[in-house]
Amino acid sequence: MANTAEYSSKTTRDGFLSYSDGSIENGLTTLTAVEIQKLDNTKEYDVIIIGAGFAGLIAARELGLRGRKVLLIEAKDRIGGRTFTAQTNDHNFEIGGTWIHWSQPHVWSEITRYGLSLKESKGVAADRMSILLENGTKLKEISMLDSLVALANAMEKYSDVDDVQGRTVIPFPHTPFVANELVQKYDQLSMQDRFDQIIDSLNITDEIKDMLLALLSMNMQGDIAEGGFIDHLRWWALGDYNMIRMFDKLSRYKIKEGTSTLAQAILNDCKNVTLLLSTSVLSVDHTNTNSSIIRIQTGDLLLARSVLVTVPLNALQNLKFFPPLGIKKQESIANGQCPGGRKFWVKLEKPIGPWFGMAPYPNPITMAYTDDEEGYIIVGFGPDELLDIQNINIVEKELNKFLPNVKVTYVLGHDWRNDPFILSTWSWYKPGQMCSSLKALQIAEPPIFFASGDIADGWRGFIDGAIESGLTNARYIQQYLNKRFPSH
Ligand SMILES: Cc1cc2nc3c(=O)[nH]c(=O)nc-3n(C[C@H](O)[C@H](O)[C@H](O)COP(=O)(O)OP(=O)(O)OC[C@H]3O[C@@H](n4cnc5c(N)ncnc54)[C@H](O)[C@@H]3O)c2cc1C
Repeated sequence: MANTAEYSSKTTRDGFLSYSDGSIENGLTTLTAVEIQKLDNTKEYDVIIIGAGFAGLIAARELGLRGRKVLLIEAKDRIGGRTFTAQTNDHNFEIGGTWIHWSQPHVWSEITRYGLSLKESKGVAADRMSILLENGTKLKEISMLDSLVALANAMEKYSDVDDVQGRTVIPFPHTPFVANELVQKYDQLSMQDRFDQIIDSLNITDEIKDMLLALLSMNMQGDIAEGGFIDHLRWWALGDYNMIRMFDKLSRYKIKEGTSTLAQAILNDCKNVTLLLSTSVLSVDHTNTNSSIIRIQTGDLLLARSVLVTVPLNALQNLKFFPPLGIKKQESIANGQCPGGRKFWVKLEKPIGPWFGMAPYPNPITMAYTDDEEGYIIVGFGPDELLDIQNINIVEKELNKFLPNVKVTYVLGHDWRNDPFILSTWSWYKPGQMCSSLKALQIAEPPIFFASGDIADGWRGFIDGAIESGLTNARYIQQYLNKRFPSH
């Protein structure tokens, strides 16, 4: 690739590390933070790609390999977007997107291509489980094995809208609108609406009810009254209509070498691509369809025959388009998606072995589990903004509700919800949003194209979806350029 520095571990401005003595370090060490790049003297690019997350990286590689001149512009001081592996105290911590699975076709193909491998997060299969009942006031220790069947039954009833586990609604999980009428029907429901429909017929203990509510709230990272039920059915279908298989796909296996290693491998594979980091794009002017004008934060103007926008859905409102985008797209951008919640990692003073904890909304931690063999490291999730993850005392206090007396040595994470270039975690749509917005957000307005994990067809909200969307749009752009500028 052109104009890139040597890659080695550097510090990104993203993320924090809080220690038990009260000190906080801002910024984390990661493989994918690189030097600020300088532009080469290219007058006009075939494609300018805005955003160097997985959607942008994949599209850059594909188009560059087809001989297109590509400029990849990223606001952050690193590639990888909503994913990065922090290398801290001899441990790899995945601060954003983490778990992948061999049934996620696009990411798995990249794992094969670059020869990467998997590592298991141990606590996911732990038998020792703590649940917080009665609004977080009562701690109960249970055996996961003893509760699993009842919980899986409850989840099946929650998902079973048609006596065949939702198969008639989402028969092909990578083609979302096959059963259009049914999708429209269930898209109107919130996750809470569906819960209210079936709770009386569930016949479950309060304990299983709280576990079910914790799982649902965990998935959308907030109040289930605000999350669309169709996204639950989508995850259910992608999870083979089975709770344990779904859970394995969502939270069990991560890239052993680190997610940043995959991002970097894709970058290293790029040809004809110039990378410009720490540069935010302010506007895209496509009044002249033969040449779009991109204004960057320095005030400089850059020219391109086509533009691929991979900015996260909730941050798209900060990018200006001239002339304005189609009205449905504008409305969909203004509506945004659920903003998600918190993810944090802690290192404990003493190991606790494999362990898993859960509590329903609005507990500040809905799910947490050990990651490593010994149980020194815990990954945790909180809904909305209910947990101040930078405050180690608060994090320890909340963890002590599940694990009395454990002491936290340090906590680390990143505030994705308030990161101005992201403004969300993983994609979860609001009720009605899938039918009102997904197609509008996906549709190209040539010479402007849109790709993101937030608007994928299949694993929307996942690394796999970002890759799918990047690949699809690289194909569209290649077709567009071939047709529009045949002499290339
Ligand atoms: C806490 C968390 C946990 C997650 N867990 C998982 C998981 O376990 N498994 C999984 O598969 N997925 C997970 N995800 C989701 C996954 O990380 C994302 O779906 C995926 O990485 C999105 O990739 P993307 O390329 O579409 O967008 P992004 O990675 O968000 O990339 C978009 C890029 O655009 C840049 N940008 C924005 N505005 C501008 C601008 N104006 N100018 C220039 N650049 C701009 C941003 O800085 C960003 O780098 C998680 C996400 C989070 C936050």
